[in-house]
Amino acid sequence: MRSFEYLAPGSLNELLEVIRDRAPDFKLLAGGTDLLVELKHGPSDPKLVMDLSAVPELKGIEETPLGLRIGAMVTHSQIQQSALIAEHAPAMMAAAATIGAVQTRNMGTIGGNLVTCVPSLDSGPVLVALDAQVTVAGVHGRRVLAITEFFVGPRQTALAPDELLIDILIPTAMLGRAAAFRKFGLRKGQALALVNAAASIAVDDDRIIEARIALGAVAPTVIRATDGERVITGKPTDDVGALREAAAVAVTEARPIDDFRASAAYRRELIAVGTFRVLEEALALATSS
Ligand SMILES: Cc1cc2nc3c(=O)[nH]c(=O)nc-3n(C[C@H](O)[C@H](O)[C@H](O)COP(=O)(O)OP(=O)(O)OC[C@H]3O[C@@H](n4cnc5c(N)ncnc54)[C@H](O)[C@@H]3O)c2cc1C
Repeated sequence: MRSFEYLAPGSLNELLEVIRDRAPDFKLLAGGTDLLVELKHGPSDPKLVMDLSAVPELKGIEETPLGLRIGAMVTHSQIQQSALIAEHAPAMMAAAATIGAVQTRNMGTIGGNLVTCVPSLDSGPVLVALDAQVTVAGVHGRRVLAITEFFVGPRQTALAPDELLIDILIPTAMLGRAAAFRKFGLRKGQALALVNAAASIAVDDDRIIEARIALGAVAPTVIRATDGERVITGKPTDDVGALREAAAVAVTEARPIDDFRASAAYRRELIAVGTFRVLEEALALATSS
């Protein structure tokens, strides 16, 4: 491990003051499941590491007038155990349950997961399917972005060097929205996604009135398969053929790569299967409620 100065600010204001003085030569430490590997073995050699664990503004899951707010420092295990997430966005629990092993989920945070911005990140697809927003803050104030704007490219977010992720908001209109998540890896546990998929569906009078399909690990960032969504919007809820057609169209919107884990052709098969399954599951939830 390389040597660095360590600070643990006790408030967001304190943290932002240090950022103002020291940006960009610092690293933020959340759960450390990615960062510590990077500090030991990667190119990162910061002079200062700032631990976020004592910043109260980054913690907690709560209902607000705007929706469900999830602090950036909320761990994957806390998401799995949250009664509010269970009530309003249970697909997030399904996604959190697939992240690493229990030790990784106990330490790793949703904020750290989103900021790593690897194409396979497992928190991303459900948040895209639920039209989530993120709040970022820096020395010049706060900004709210759609989650799809936050993801810019592989390991690249919309955060400026002097900004950090504060929280994630599931808007009120999406709370309780029927949604589902599936992940395909080389094995069931402790595996990065070859493909992950999420969908949310709203129905009215036996018709699908809104659908969102999100895919991970099949493009430089998590993507929305909007052409696939259009295929099923307005269709009767018993039109299983439309779900299959939407899944086939979603395949054409992805750009999977060949790598040592899987071929692009195999990933395309997984996209078709995964998209169909999340649509089927979300639709079953939407029509049963
Ligand atoms: C064994 C193992 C298995 C894993 N399995 C999976 C998996 O199945 N699926 C998956 O998606 N991921 C997986 N990961 C990756 C990782 O655990 C997660 O991405 C985790 O959520 C990262 O969160 P963290 O709190 O540990 O982030 P950290 O390691 O603390 O930080 C990661 C990066 O984000 C930055 N950062 C953290 N919080 C903020 C913030 N609020 N604002 C700005 N920047 C911030 C840090 O500076 C750092 O650059 C795995 C990791 C390990 C080690």
